[in-house]
Amino acid sequence: SATPATLSAISNGAKNGVLFKGGAAMEALSSMDVLYSDKTGTLTLGKFKVIDYEIDESILKEVVYMEQQSSHPIADAITTSFKDLDLGAVDDRTPIEEIAGAGVKKGDIIVAKPTALKNFEDPYNYREKVAAENTAVLVGKANQIVGYFLLADQIRSESAEAVAGFQAEDIKVNLITGDHELVAKKVASEIKVDHYYSNCSPEEKIKFIQADQDNHHVVGMIGDGINDAPALAQADIGIAMGSGSSVAMESSDVVIVKNNLAKLLYSFKLSQRLNKIIV
Ligand code: ADP
Ligand code: MG
Repeated sequence: SATPATLSAISNGAKNGVLFKGGAAMEALSSMDVLYSDKTGTLTLGKFKVIDYEIDESILKEVVYMEQQSSHPIADAITTSFKDLDLGAVDDRTPIEEIAGAGVKKGDIIVAKPTALKNFEDPYNYREKVAAENTAVLVGKANQIVGYFLLADQIRSESAEAVAGFQAEDIKVNLITGDHELVAKKVASEIKVDHYYSNCSPEEKIKFIQADQDNHHVVGMIGDGINDAPALAQADIGIAMGSGSSVAMESSDVVIVKNNLAKLLYSFKLSQRLNKIIV
């Protein structure tokens, strides 16, 4: 059970928009020495805009219909961009399958990250078009790439300073994302994280965290998506953004209500002071 000092720190955290699910979470945070952070919606706003695309209109309708069933920020961007499109006679019988951290699938149509379509033929050379510093989505039908979308997101204004603040406390901050290499590299260099890992599936996110835990690090993971939930559960301290999916919040020990990484830094310092009181 938590000491009075821990309870007081938890209540101070709550006043600052950081909700701890118990004393153990506060104590784990105080010994954290590595922090993994998801990109989309965590270091960035997660509000994508479609900045370029090419696709046949009949397949576009299918894509918009499929993305209407997905809760990913990319899906929101695509459905919003084409909200005036009359979907008319799309096939609404074939079930839609969400592939966490990759995309959506319906029958022989797939809308997903480029690596998920690596065995597809590319008659229109769309792979070349998405090899840029922007988040990319390819559309595949019957083993051929038939469309693409490029999307832009924005880095949150507080991210770089908060990351530097953790680093000043001797915490390594690593970016871990399902997005592709060029986007990860660009965000990593703008925010100045220690390392970045791109193209990670939810399972790969777990493996990086586990490897650090095997080397006796106390690992924090911060994220917001369904695809982050397994990594949040694996980490010694899982931290969810309050705007994120409910699965992420359920899998975590701490919730940052206002989505501001600076608030976590504040709570970390609070937990450190607590340690000094206990010793
Ligand atoms: P992050 O780790 O940065 O939060 P995700 O793991 O959620 O990113 O997504 C990784 C990639 O998978 C995206 O950049 C995108 O290419 C693709 N993707 C994920 N969900 C969707 C979706 N609903 N529609 C299209 N592409 C998607
Ligand atoms: Mg995310």
